[in-house]
Amino acid sequence: MAEKTTRVSGKVAPLRKARPCPECGKPSARDHYPFCSDRCRTLDLSRWLNGSYAIPVADDESSADPEDGNA
Ligand SMILES: [Zn+2]
Repeated sequence: MAEKTTRVSGKVAPLRKARPCPECGKPSARDHYPFCSDRCRTLDLSRWLNGSYAIPVADDESSADPEDGNA
């Protein structure tokens, strides 16, 4: 069930525990959560993008025929 209040009146406690940066293991910074710095965030992002781009594309021109089989 959902809680009635998400914030305790007069007391704002940080719900997020400090977790280590997934890139370098340092304590994460608030501004770059969950990373410790913008550099690590960029690193992770670039690696993620590189991984996507690294996916081999089917470069078979024979199968790239939109007219084929479309009567
Ligand atoms: Zn880091």
